[in-house]
Amino acid sequence: MNGQKAYPKSAQAWMRAGSFLVGGVNSPVRAFGGVEMTPLFIERAAGSKIYDIDGNEYIDYVGSWGPMILGHAHPKVLDAIRTAAKNGTSFGAPTLAETALAEKIAAAFDSIEKVRLVSSGTEAVMTAIRLARAYTKRDLIIKMAGCYHGHSDCLLVAAGSGVAETGIASSAGVPDSLARLTIVLPYNDIGAAKAAFAGHEDKIAAVLVEPIAANMGVVPPIDGYLAALRNLCDAGGAILIFDEVITGFRVAYGGAQELFGVKADITCLGKIIGGGLPLAAVGGRADIMDMLAPIGPVYQAGTLSGNPIATAAANATLDILEERPHVKRGAKYLAPQSFDRAQDRFIAGSVAVPAPAKHIQRPVYQRLESSAAMLEVGLANAAKEAGVTVTINRVGSIMSCFFTDRPVRNFADVQSTNIKQFKKFFAGMLNQGVYLAPSAYEAMFVSLAHTQEDIEKTIEAAGKSFRKIKG
Ligand SMILES: *Cc1c(COP(=O)(O)O)cnc(C)c1O
Repeated sequence: MNGQKAYPKSAQAWMRAGSFLVGGVNSPVRAFGGVEMTPLFIERAAGSKIYDIDGNEYIDYVGSWGPMILGHAHPKVLDAIRTAAKNGTSFGAPTLAETALAEKIAAAFDSIEKVRLVSSGTEAVMTAIRLARAYTKRDLIIKMAGCYHGHSDCLLVAAGSGVAETGIASSAGVPDSLARLTIVLPYNDIGAAKAAFAGHEDKIAAVLVEPIAANMGVVPPIDGYLAALRNLCDAGGAILIFDEVITGFRVAYGGAQELFGVKADITCLGKIIGGGLPLAAVGGRADIMDMLAPIGPVYQAGTLSGNPIATAAANATLDILEERPHVKRGAKYLAPQSFDRAQDRFIAGSVAVPAPAKHIQRPVYQRLESSAAMLEVGLANAAKEAGVTVTINRVGSIMSCFFTDRPVRNFADVQSTNIKQFKKFFAGMLNQGVYLAPSAYEAMFVSLAHTQEDIEKTIEAAGKSFRKIKG
């Protein structure tokens, strides 16, 4: 049991859950299989904390796997949900709030002209793929090993996240004939992408990529990678799809596209835009998006799409994130860590650089950046003091602490890290009241609710956990 403390109520709940729910859970990673422990059953959450049914409090770095950027149970989001619920929970008819949300999404992303709201990231990506195939009249999709794009058929090939955890190369039940339409390439490998285009001329419908990979732990794109994919798509007549389900509104208000200055044709959003409720979106160029029914021939629909309660939570969340700063001319802002070619590694910590004209550093993202930078530096120092070698990859408020002495740039690098050490680290942190994602293939999510005290406590707990690994 990895030295796990006793959680009697969770243990009992887990037994009972297994009798009625498949594997005791409704999404595989929740089962704690990756850390060989019994999952905690959660009673409630507030701010940066979650509470299990045994009465333990944890500083939460899972954030429901990404959505809870404001922290749990944010009062403004709860108010919006209550107000919406009073007016009825679903109409199956258009509402003003959906247009307001679509307008905000389009304003945040230069590349998005039109939007379709859906209920999950899986649906968003599935729709993006269908659009790309219809638009290009081609079938082949390029995806990168270790990137996760939800659980639709074509994309469950060499996927990250929970799929990586189970060691399922590609899911049972996915016909070979469909899997064959997906070309899997290593992430951050420009040469491999070039070769794939050369080998399948006029056949590639789309390149689908997480612009910052975050489902194999956090793996940022190397310099020029996203631009190279953009160029290959343009030259090869393919659609570039950025799956920003994690990164959208997370690493910047305008997602990874704002950070790296590369525009996608279609963008998939989820997690944060739902404010903790089931809502996601696909958006992009109007000429592509207008292929969707009822205007075009690509069918897509949803009974609960744009659900009024989810849309209210979404609008409330984006309103808080959208807050604009008073920008001083010539001011410096904190950039996320970047890849240093000369040193062949990601530079740890934040660097102050002049703010590019287009890149407005909004106050909430500045706060996220400084909390996360503090955590990164603290973790790195704690590991060093304990004599444990780690590589920390971080972009804004998402980060991963990999147990390796090498840079981590793709899925193979992630798989070569020391998973045993991660499991011990995870157990040590949990015992000390820090709730990390129960898998070496997931990110840590810092929220606006995390206080300096939370971060200090986390670093202290990490110090002890690192020393235990060593000892
Ligand atoms: C979580 C995730 C998805 C799937 O979203 P769901 O809402 O779980 O269906 C797709 N792509 C990425 C990058 C994700 O992180």
